[in-house]
Amino acid sequence: MAKKVILSCEKCGSRNYSMPAKSSNEAQRLELKKFCTHCNEHTVHKQTL
Ligand SMILES: [Zn+2]
Repeated sequence: MAKKVILSCEKCGSRNYSMPAKSSNEAQRLELKKFCTHCNEHTVHKQTL
């Protein structure tokens, strides 16, 4: 079963990105700097559960 990780902007909460989850990373929450089209800037995107 393929698990998916959804990344949401920490600033505005928009769910901008999704990617296949890696089982090795399941223990820790992903935190990536990504471009948010709502904030129009790069913000920290955190994995939603
Ligand atoms: Zn945002």
